[in-house]
Amino acid sequence: MRLQLYNSLDRKKSEFNPIHPGKVGLYTCGPTVYNFAHIGNLRTYIFEDILKRVLRYNDYQVKHVMNITDVGHLTGDRDMGEDKMEKGAQREGRTAWEIAEFYTQAFKSDIAQLNILEPEIWVKATDTIDEQIALIKILEEKGYSYRTGDGIYFDTSKFKNYTRLSHQDIESLQEGARVEKNPAKRNATDFALWKFSPEGVRRQMEWDSPWGTGFPGWHIECSAMSMKYLGELLDIHCGGTDHIDVHHTNEIAQSEAATGRKFFNCWMHGAFLIVAGGKKMAKSEDNFLTLHNAFVKKGIKPLVYRFATFQTHYRKPMEYSEESIQASRNGLQHLQNQVRQAAQNSAGQKGTVIDEYKTRFLEAINDDLNMPRAMAVVQEMLKSRSGDADKHATIIDYDRVLGLSLDQVDKPDELPEKIKILIAERQAARDAKDWAASDRLRDMIQDLGYTVQDTKDGIKVIKN
Ligand SMILES: [Zn+2]
Repeated sequence: MRLQLYNSLDRKKSEFNPIHPGKVGLYTCGPTVYNFAHIGNLRTYIFEDILKRVLRYNDYQVKHVMNITDVGHLTGDRDMGEDKMEKGAQREGRTAWEIAEFYTQAFKSDIAQLNILEPEIWVKATDTIDEQIALIKILEEKGYSYRTGDGIYFDTSKFKNYTRLSHQDIESLQEGARVEKNPAKRNATDFALWKFSPEGVRRQMEWDSPWGTGFPGWHIECSAMSMKYLGELLDIHCGGTDHIDVHHTNEIAQSEAATGRKFFNCWMHGAFLIVAGGKKMAKSEDNFLTLHNAFVKKGIKPLVYRFATFQTHYRKPMEYSEESIQASRNGLQHLQNQVRQAAQNSAGQKGTVIDEYKTRFLEAINDDLNMPRAMAVVQEMLKSRSGDADKHATIIDYDRVLGLSLDQVDKPDELPEKIKILIAERQAARDAKDWAASDRLRDMIQDLGYTVQDTKDGIKVIKN
């Protein structure tokens, strides 16, 4: 079965055909690096990673670009509010540049722990200011922009079919947005291409431009970068569903206005993560779960989260609860045991990928990345009457898409960092003959799922 993908532009599934046979350009909107990513954001990056792996599994050569928004993203999507970077700097008593660097590294560490493949090209917004200015100049020459007291804006009324992606009713959109506090805009949906630094204020991140000192709007960076690095390969552009109404809609408007050509053929969006109780997870709300506080700190492997996301189709909201994560933890452990068993039973014998199950797996993933169905195929295959060596070869082949490091299940487990620290602290307590502290630490380690035994050869740590 050929790969079918759901395109948000026409709201239906259709066969995917890249512009250039065999090659796919993929652009995924990256993080705004003023804080940690929350696990709702990370769900979108896992979905995009599955997409990229499925494209590769279908023998496409993928060129993947991801941006890092390190400037110009205001707290409100519609160009009002404070600058997130400068606000983060204030909060933490560091410079905006330090904040950006710190959270970029934190993001890269998160995705590495989730086995998300890195893009071929990372681009920082602050490294493409010239390209963004050049694009704004074109829009100005073509008459799509105008100047207000606080910046250069894109006139959305001049762009035909502005709501093509969002499918919103433009009349009610303008009506609803009238509450906004920027009377200088011609239309409520107009958005900033360039914002001026406020009078008398020296921002940490600002640049000269033909219009005055300031910084680019958020949307323009993705247009400038995708065109710069993907050139003609404008195949698939992804993000979270919250990008549809404003960010991606504005990217399309300004890019197509500038070039007069279609900007990306296929738009794909990952749905939200809902925290038990029904609230969408967002940085602006209090239910802020990071990979660290929801998983690592509790001694749960980040790959459990990757596995958990496979239980829900990427276009459906996913429920997060401690129980569902516990179930996924058991599920992943069970799968690892099955793979270990198949490897042991085949005793070094090389198997071959089972045709029938390869086809069925491909049918599931090629049906708009249907991972719940793919996981059902995984279980049917492992429980089938096929030989263990062939089963093992097949699951390792599937793992090119699953990304669960199933070829590593035979290797001994690395202890989580937190456990290593507690063990070292317990050793220090024992050296100081502080037995009460030593016992307390042993109990803490026990609560995190590990048992410490003192043997004549030293300490032994066993996973419960
Ligand atoms: Zn973007």
